Amino acid sequence: MSSLFAKIIAREIPADIVYEDDLTLAFRDIAPQAPVHILIIPKREIATVNDVMPADEAALGRLLRVAAKLAASEGIAQDGYRLIVNCNEHGGQEVFHLHLHLLGGRNLGPMLARQT
Ligand code: AMP
Repeated sequence: MSSLFAKIIAREIPADIVYEDDLTLAFRDIAPQAPVHILIIPKREIATVNDVMPADEAALGRLLRVAAKLAASEGIAQDGYRLIVNCNEHGGQEVFHLHLHLLGGRNLGPMLARQT
């Protein structure tokens, strides 16, 4: 059975798609954690960063270029933004189709919640 994000690629479930090319798709996160929260995914179904193959390098490089392009079109490139890839349980990964979170539009504060 294909993942949630594979279903979005196949247009089997709706999403607010903001960009598509031969290797990647980008759509707005359904539960945004910042004014701009876009997920950028490779079209090939790669479960986690641990599953990346040499042949995926072009698609994964493309994710960063698409992130920069979308940051510019969303008007957050100059102020800045954060890119996140979660992996497995300790990384907080919930959807097992590798994705890059593009977050911005406000000051995002420190990278991790501080342990006190
Ligand atoms: P992660 O925890 O890194 O696996 O992130 C998964 C992200 O997918 C979360 O930020 C969710 O809000 C988002 N998400 C889950 N379902 C959908 C959906 N149908 N459309 C858009 N984003 C989704």
